[in-house]
Amino acid sequence: MNIQPRKSTKDLTAYDPGLFKGRYKLDANENPYGIPAGLKKKILAKAAALELNRYPQPGAGLLREKLSKGLKVSPAQIVVGNGSDEILLYLMLAYLEQGEAVIAPAPAFEMYGVIAKACGGRFVPVPLDDKYDIDDRAILRAAGENKPKFIFITYPNNPTGNCFTASRIKNILDNTGALVVIDEAYYEFSQKTFLPLLKKYPNLIITRTFSKAYSMAGLRLGYMISSAAVCENVNKVRLPYNVNSLSVFIALEALKNAGVIKKSIGIIRKERARMYKTISQKYETIKSDANFIFVRFNDPQKAKFAFEKEGISIRMFGKGPAAGWARITVGKPAENSAVLKIIKRGV
Ligand code: PMP
Repeated sequence: MNIQPRKSTKDLTAYDPGLFKGRYKLDANENPYGIPAGLKKKILAKAAALELNRYPQPGAGLLREKLSKGLKVSPAQIVVGNGSDEILLYLMLAYLEQGEAVIAPAPAFEMYGVIAKACGGRFVPVPLDDKYDIDDRAILRAAGENKPKFIFITYPNNPTGNCFTASRIKNILDNTGALVVIDEAYYEFSQKTFLPLLKKYPNLIITRTFSKAYSMAGLRLGYMISSAAVCENVNKVRLPYNVNSLSVFIALEALKNAGVIKKSIGIIRKERARMYKTISQKYETIKSDANFIFVRFNDPQKAKFAFEKEGISIRMFGKGPAAGWARITVGKPAENSAVLKIIKRGV
């Protein structure tokens, strides 16, 4: 028998977010509002006409076309994935050689390391500086030593919530030959983007998602924007029908009604400011450009228990570079008030 898994999976564990049983789900940076009920009903009624017995249009052509117009790039510069998670996987499948290095700041989105290792790569995390900004010089030093294929930068960063200093990211772009992936999953909340720099840097890749601002986490749609050459390589490893007809249809309808859906962004940004004001008076926290807030609790176990007791699920970091910190999604006003009540009382 030969049933050994790949050696590179040895220190990985299956992702298990657990089953949510509480009152308020503030642990996954989802949009609490969803697609407005009336619009959702209309879209789903229209979706009844979809021929679900047929395979989807390969490569989500219509969606790429629609996105390309808004982004002012060509459809050949976009690849759509089953969540931006899948795009990250395809990037590494297409480009990463066995043993090759992948660099990302720490803490950052955990999937960069997981996918790098799953693909047989070597993950090199580089700590943030003492102001939770990207340490561009340390990253370039690590790049010099490790000759990475990829440098991943989350903008705004997850879990810290801040957008790193743009000139530091540009310094990395100016001084590396690696593929630089700027993950803009939370772009709509920050309104800051590296998109205009695509023309200047052929090694720049930007990823975005419908999971956060667009309220479509359950439909699993994300995409990358890069040069047509990079997209062509990614398409070589993309499964033929990786995104389904229903999700693509809903995304197209959502884009037609973007104004209605995006109303929630303004409310979330306002609530974010309200939360920051109270939290920062009591605990160490970081000004957020995303839809979540990162908070350091003196006693993380006690904090976890205090929130659980009130039926509020938040993301606690027990180990790793964010140990002792919690990430709290900005929810609806009543949910946020429940969080602030605990904060004011102290945990
Ligand atoms: N990038 C970042 C920074 C994220 O926080 C997430 C979701 N937590 C993703 C990518 C993946 O999102 P999705 O697969 O839903 O598009």
